[in-house]
Amino acid sequence: MTHACLPLHWRRYPERYLLKGNYCENCKTAFFPARVVCPNCRRKALLKEKEMPRTGRIISFTEVFVGPMGFEHETPYFLALIELENKAKILSQIVDSKKESIREGAKVKKVFRKISDTDKEGAIAYGYKFKVVK
Ligand SMILES: [Zn+2]
Repeated sequence: MTHACLPLHWRRYPERYLLKGNYCENCKTAFFPARVVCPNCRRKALLKEKEMPRTGRIISFTEVFVGPMGFEHETPYFLALIELENKAKILSQIVDSKKESIREGAKVKKVFRKISDTDKEGAIAYGYKFKVVK
């Protein structure tokens, strides 16, 4: 697959839009972000790069009222710990979801959203966030 048509900063940071993690073929465990050594078996050779599933469930969440630098204008927003369908866990902002739909166990899917107006290179930075689905 070629990414020639994508803007340069997307091609430079594939983990931002593909949720690239990896998978240990020995103990059948998925990791995000990718690990260098499997924490279970410590056998580096068996780790394979893998794109993470696009759906999962909320394990826990919090409403953020005071955002970190660059996110001040977005508060309040919801930050959730999500367990993907392959059991890998990921921390992500929840967007486009009714407040009452954001709860433990809610099913979520990955969406692309603007993360910040400009990154270090002056380009608009996009990446993954999640939204609640029925
Ligand atoms: Zn392993």
